[in-house]
Amino acid sequence: MGKIIAVTNQKGGVGKTTTSVNLAASLAAAKRRVLLMDLDPQGNAAMGCGVDKDNVAYSSYDVLMDDVPASAAVVVRDELGFSVIPGNADLTAAEVQLMNADRKELRLRDALGQITSQYDYILIDCPPSLNMLTLNAMVAANSLLIPVQCEYYALEGLSALMTTLKNIQNTVNPGLYLEGILRTMFDDRNRLTKDVSEQLLRYFGDQVFRTYIPRNIRLAEAPSHGLPILAYDKSSRGAVAYNALAEEMINNEKK
Ligand code: ADP
Ligand code: MG
Repeated sequence: MGKIIAVTNQKGGVGKTTTSVNLAASLAAAKRRVLLMDLDPQGNAAMGCGVDKDNVAYSSYDVLMDDVPASAAVVVRDELGFSVIPGNADLTAAEVQLMNADRKELRLRDALGQITSQYDYILIDCPPSLNMLTLNAMVAANSLLIPVQCEYYALEGLSALMTTLKNIQNTVNPGLYLEGILRTMFDDRNRLTKDVSEQLLRYFGDQVFRTYIPRNIRLAEAPSHGLPILAYDKSSRGAVAYNALAEEMINNEKK
């Protein structure tokens, strides 16, 4: 049975989409069957995989709101080794419509139930807020992967996220656990980065991935080519780091 991982942090620009796309590619390179679901109205994950988000038969919106089967919305990206359910601006409407919908926080769980067995991993790229879309992802998920940029306000946002995790565990998804906290855009020459990283390790211990993602310009360039870093520059530091993250995750599961 596949594992559903929500890549989430209500802060924008911390590396959620970069992590979703590149971890999907690295897990696929490790011969895992991977589906990436884009749940952000910006549709950056879809674009980063070379999918034209505004010219697709169905998007995440249709799966959530229009009872379109998830399998119908899957775009197979053979060249990349994994599949994508694209997101686009339609999702903005879903944020509002979900408020009054039946089973409003269970819709994504219901929708993904039909296809979970076809994948080893389903990664959900969440929007930068704790809205109904993110709630749906957290309810559907087995675990949360939280990218954190090591800067001054990072820890503050993290405590709100941990409270949300506890609330969801206590109510609608008792099995939800923390896959790990991922340090992104890491600059080891920067004093503040190091301080915040040390604090993270002190508070969260082995819930922080040993692997961190360095600041690497190639990671920022790859999306403009519609490619994960592995397909764009597989020897870059960014590519090596995301491969290491995939390996660490797979090894954690064996323990
Ligand atoms: P989020 O999805 O959390 O909003 P993104 O993944 O879109 O964050 O990243 C924000 C910006 O930072 C993007 O322009 C992205 O290309 C860039 N970026 C992300 N990770 C790295 C990195 N490790 N090194 C350099 N640039 C990065
Ligand atoms: Mg994003």
